[in-house]
Amino acid sequence: AKAAGRRTFMRYDDNMDLAVRQRATVSGALRKVLDRGELRLVFQPRMSLSPARITGVEALLRWSSPEHGDIAPSDFIPIAEESGLILEIGEWVLREACLVLQRWRQHGLDEMTVSVNVSVLQLLRGDFTGVVARVLEDIGIPPHLLELELTESVLMANAEQTAARLQAFRALGVSLAIDDFGTGYSSLAYLKRLPITTIKIDKAFVDGLPHDAEDAAITPTIVAMGHSLGLRVVAEGVETEAQMRFLADRGCDEIQGFWISPPLDALQCLAFIRNWRPDAPH
Ligand code: C2E
Ligand code: CA
Ligand code: CA
Ligand code: CA
Repeated sequence: AKAAGRRTFMRYDDNMDLAVRQRATVSGALRKVLDRGELRLVFQPRMSLSPARITGVEALLRWSSPEHGDIAPSDFIPIAEESGLILEIGEWVLREACLVLQRWRQHGLDEMTVSVNVSVLQLLRGDFTGVVARVLEDIGIPPHLLELELTESVLMANAEQTAARLQAFRALGVSLAIDDFGTGYSSLAYLKRLPITTIKIDKAFVDGLPHDAEDAAITPTIVAMGHSLGLRVVAEGVETEAQMRFLADRGCDEIQGFWISPPLDALQCLAFIRNWRPDAPH
């Protein structure tokens, strides 16, 4: 399923000339996507390890363009960031994710959380805290059910500026995760100062588990460090039972990845969560 899903995406890095020529076209097409309803969200479940239960989902953006086909977020989000369109798109993602969560809550999933990826442009914009507060209020989502995911490199590159913004979100009651942890330049001093609640260990460190000696040394170290700072530690990209067991044995709090489920559309994901049992085969 993974390979098939990937193959349908257009990869610009396959051909750099194509990338240059199509960048302008894609940027133009992106401008219209919100009006034309070409964006949608998929949701990937996240599971706590003890007790084993589905705790929430991460919302992930998908763009199906009539002209360009399905384009991967890693290909179009940088373009949306350059053009500033990420502000509008990001606000749409936030609102849509909260609307879906609210529908699920009406189906009885009232403690489920939703995590939304936030780009640096959104974070540094003056009124993003206000936008988030308004969306939560409009839709009626308790703030502690929303988590914002920020990449490590973004937080570290703008540590002084972002710390104040993050404080405002914590005051609102929203959770804050450092995404792709371990891949950027991380300063432990900054990490200590940032008011975050969660660390997401990047898939790159999970891939080699349980046999790769480096990954097997690094992941428990991140778990221990996160716990000593009072943070929740989530591993992403967990694809096998052996990886899950390794992480469970080292006290990792939660996992996310194909071993539990790939990202699903909202209806499928609701059904998945409602039918999920701790002992179900994978
Ligand atoms: P991310 O935040 O690190 O998201 C995890 C990515 O890993 C997702 O790719 C997900 O589909 C994929 N994944 C999850 N589990 C597995 C697994 O077990 N194996 C493998 N091979 N892959 C797995 P996706 O959906 O293509 O998203 C790529 C990136 O695009 C995200 O990385 C995130 O940085 C960005 N992104 C996605 N949606 C948004 C959004 O709404 N706003 C912003 N600013 N960025 C977004
Ligand atoms: Ca993420
Ligand atoms: Ca991530
Ligand atoms: Ca990642």
